[in-house]
Amino acid sequence: MLLKVQGIVIREAVSGEKDKVITVFTKEYGKISVFAGGAKGKKSRLSSCSQLFSYCDFVIFKNKEKYSLNDGQVIESFFDLTKDLESLSLGQYFLQLCDYSLPERETCPEALSLLLNSLHLLCKGEKSKTLIKSVFELRLMCLIGFTPDVILCSKCEEEIKEGEKAYFLITEGKINCEKCGINTFLMTPAVITCMRFIIYGDIKKIFSFKTSEESIQLLNYITENYCIFKLEKKMDTLDFYKSILC
Ligand SMILES: [Zn+2]
Repeated sequence: MLLKVQGIVIREAVSGEKDKVITVFTKEYGKISVFAGGAKGKKSRLSSCSQLFSYCDFVIFKNKEKYSLNDGQVIESFFDLTKDLESLSLGQYFLQLCDYSLPERETCPEALSLLLNSLHLLCKGEKSKTLIKSVFELRLMCLIGFTPDVILCSKCEEEIKEGEKAYFLITEGKINCEKCGINTFLMTPAVITCMRFIIYGDIKKIFSFKTSEESIQLLNYITENYCIFKLEKKMDTLDFYKSILC
């Protein structure tokens, strides 16, 4: 059976001398593993559409539960990422997070648009990369079922009001008010506002807020560690990204 799908290559692996096995995050079928015969060859017509970051219209042959790539037209290659190592490494981290955390063959159109929007913004280079990273990490965690509760104190169940500080329990994804706060991570009111916006905001608008550099750094600490705790894994692409910042 021939399938026409739209998706982005989030992982590529060489198979034998000439072939590749790619993981494509598609709109229609979620994350699927696809054999791309001969795609390693530079002259292959599958060469450009089987590369990391290639967002394409794919024609895929499905036989039982196996997929193989027939053809592909590149819609967007996110080529501009290659102009800046920081953007490129962050982009690779985003792909790896999707590859690791998303279930196979389950559609998640919101995660796909989150990924595409994040990569577009990295290419544009106008927004803080650290902010893009935090938004991506936190909203992705929500989409895969790890939405933190940043409204009520987990102990006294009082609402944390605007302008109040609170403690974030990174391992649990909960917050405590200042009275109940134990010695965990203190969040400023601005960071709480940002987190609420990222968690509950319309996915098309979640990058459209501004905050101070100090808040971005706090937010980044929270979202990065929250991801590591929830996925129980630190991605090697994250280590690489951090190594080039030093
Ligand atoms: Zn409390």
